[in-house]
Amino acid sequence: MKNSIPASHPDTTRNTRAGRPTNPGLRPWASFELAATVTAAVLAVSTVYAGAEGPRVVKNPYSDIEWGEVKAYRANFHSHTVISDGRAEPGELIHLYADAGYHILALSDHDNGYNHREGERDLRETYIHRDDRDRVPTSETTWPWTRWIDEKPTKIWVYGGIESSAFYPDLGEEGMLAVRGAELSSSPHISSLFNRCGWPDHDRTDDDRLSCVEKHGGLAFWAHPTHYVPGGPWEDRFFDEQTWEEAVEFFGHYIVKYDSMLGFEMNVHDVHGGRVDRDRELFDRLLERYYREHDIFIEGSDDNHGTRVAEDATLTLVLASELTEDAVRHALKNGHTFVGPRAESYPRFNGIEVDDDAQTISLDIDNHDKIRWIRDGRDHATGSVLDYSEIEDAMVRFEIDLDGATFYSQGFYIR
Ligand SMILES: [Zn+2]
Ligand SMILES: [Zn+2]
Repeated sequence: MKNSIPASHPDTTRNTRAGRPTNPGLRPWASFELAATVTAAVLAVSTVYAGAEGPRVVKNPYSDIEWGEVKAYRANFHSHTVISDGRAEPGELIHLYADAGYHILALSDHDNGYNHREGERDLRETYIHRDDRDRVPTSETTWPWTRWIDEKPTKIWVYGGIESSAFYPDLGEEGMLAVRGAELSSSPHISSLFNRCGWPDHDRTDDDRLSCVEKHGGLAFWAHPTHYVPGGPWEDRFFDEQTWEEAVEFFGHYIVKYDSMLGFEMNVHDVHGGRVDRDRELFDRLLERYYREHDIFIEGSDDNHGTRVAEDATLTLVLASELTEDAVRHALKNGHTFVGPRAESYPRFNGIEVDDDAQTISLDIDNHDKIRWIRDGRDHATGSVLDYSEIEDAMVRFEIDLDGATFYSQGFYIR
């Protein structure tokens, strides 16, 4: 099953890219072919780089991790219950993830979506008082978890007077951090975390939604953004023939504008009509367009609408010292995360070292079949050590292959 993950097929990816029209502004690899014609001015800049004081790896999101202190917690930040259009009862879903070995979970029902499945019981009566159904966003009804389960939290975090997360020690082997959130669904969907923003209607602008998240100290990611790019299953849903360039501008604009909007949710295999090659492409295009000046991070979630946790559900590995809201927020905001599938075994992250004298990035990662370095969207090198002496003004990231699955790092920028 996992062998079908196309991300482990770089040839497929290359062929796909080669078949697309190129846009020099967004395709850094095209500029390499122009290297022979660079102007004296550009050469002068290169000289400055070579002689510049200080490190050349100017973005390494993993640089300040205390490797001996952190653990890779498994998280799903996007899931649905019968309160919107999922099929599991909230308590059932919580226990499914706890039993599947997850440490962090957000129930993120659509803020404006109730269960209208034909032939099924009208669950609004169960979960939302009849008089409230048209004025209470669904996001109001998925918190606190004590409505759905017998387990009790030992710690509840509050931001601005609003409960934002809670720790349940009796869920799973090590306890579970419950994250309050919702999928804000008025226009391109947003996974909204650590807050209670949400509206029962469909009339909210992107700024309405994100300024609420920002004001209440939440964090956000674009949910499945490549549903809305050319070839995506919802390419006509909110945009009129949105091009790739427009999609990059659109999603990037709000990531830059709002500190709380951190990046986007990536799927590591093809689900819900999404395609992992589109997600990889969006990641590389956003890095190239914005990462020099602004952080852009990926997060992995499975957008579960069912009554089981898929064997290879997409998840986020959160490198944090403990299961507290502060530690998890810190990891998300700084890109101390990897995205991959739920698996039998995971890579073990012991350290990432940048040596600016040797011009290398060295990965101390156990349990992998292969490490591939991606530079400007293309396979560049393999192995634990990247020699970047020849790399200039480029985005790199790495992908870890293990048992037919692929785990994705955040980006690095080498100036
Ligand atoms: Zn969605
Ligand atoms: Zn969803």
